[in-house]
Amino acid sequence: MSLQNPVFIPGPTNIPEAIRKACDMPTLDHRSPAFARLFRPAVAGVRRVLGMADGEGEVIILPSTGTGGWEAAISNTLSPGDTVLAARFGMFSHRWIDMCQRHGLNVQTLETPWGEGAPLAAIEAALRSDTAHAIRAVLATHNETATGVKSDIAGIRRSMDAAGHPAMLFVDGVSSIGSMPFEMAAWGVDVAVAGSQKGFMLPAGLAILGVSPKALAAMPTATLPRTFFDFADMLRTYAAGGYPYTPAVGLIAGLARAIEMLEDEGLEAVYARHSRIAEGVRRAVFAWGMRPCAVSPDLYSDTVTAVVVPEGCNGTDLVKLAAESYGMAFGVGLGEVAGKVFRIGHLGSLTEPMMLSGLATAEMCMADLGWPVRLGSGVAAAQDYWRHGARSAKAAA
Ligand SMILES: *Cc1c(COP(=O)(O)O)cnc(C)c1O
Repeated sequence: MSLQNPVFIPGPTNIPEAIRKACDMPTLDHRSPAFARLFRPAVAGVRRVLGMADGEGEVIILPSTGTGGWEAAISNTLSPGDTVLAARFGMFSHRWIDMCQRHGLNVQTLETPWGEGAPLAAIEAALRSDTAHAIRAVLATHNETATGVKSDIAGIRRSMDAAGHPAMLFVDGVSSIGSMPFEMAAWGVDVAVAGSQKGFMLPAGLAILGVSPKALAAMPTATLPRTFFDFADMLRTYAAGGYPYTPAVGLIAGLARAIEMLEDEGLEAVYARHSRIAEGVRRAVFAWGMRPCAVSPDLYSDTVTAVVVPEGCNGTDLVKLAAESYGMAFGVGLGEVAGKVFRIGHLGSLTEPMMLSGLATAEMCMADLGWPVRLGSGVAAAQDYWRHGARSAKAAA
């Protein structure tokens, strides 16, 4: 690996210099008002990025990662033996299901082909047939990072409402929040989970959650064990501007800076940039004669593309060669699609010219491996798209 190249893995993402500097700070007493001054803007900024309703619900920032955020979501709101409904269509939805099972929850799993998204009709049917309302929560992976599939969270909420079911809606937004539109209040999300190292462009180390009033109300009767992740402890100490234990002060300073960067660019502009870069990447993929793992355009992710490699080729070979020969990082295929895809991460601190370096390097690897791809074909397709009308107004100005 070369530390000079950008990474094209779907997290951790490239860290802008300004954020690295913001994280680098002297020791600060976390029980002093100086910490509260640092912490409050980070919490307020997260509320805006998550699209939380004014004055409703709480933001929780834990020293952890996205996985810890999942654990916090279930352990604060559910009890052993509770039923949750989840679709499995990739490695990350699979891991969340596995975690629920290990916590003694009863997971009603909707098996869904990898490459597809959350099955709205099956979710609605499962909720309608649950007349006793045993299902306490619906779990949804907004952006399945293993397959590059985006699911329709607003649609899941509509299915839940159509079924007249009172379950909570928990959403894994680890690889979407901060890079793709997310509307916690408008979509009726009860717990949203993000991590610091993807759209927020920080090092790993924070789990970032939004918790709705309904999820907060579920806490007092939820009996799954929790101590480190206990929201009640967090909220009690937050009120005084503090923390129940030692916070990751540098990362929290970096988070406030990251939100400032996102808002300076404008959240809508950030989402548009991701969508534009993603479309250019897909044009390159099609020009190579390949296709995204996501089975239809409405499912295409704006943050990661899992590229299905030609018959007889192995995606993992490309990832290994890119690292060894060119010092560049792409993502390997995980689980069911191991070897069948390689993944291009295109989220966080990224521009079209940076992305061109990734596409060009992927092509060199394909040529080195003897794959049937013409050098420059994908790069030219992306260049054509980014030149003609798809340029950002800001960059063009
Ligand atoms: C990265 C990722 C996770 C896991 O997060 P960690 O920070 O590695 O614990 C969970 N879900 C999705 C969708 C992810 O992309």
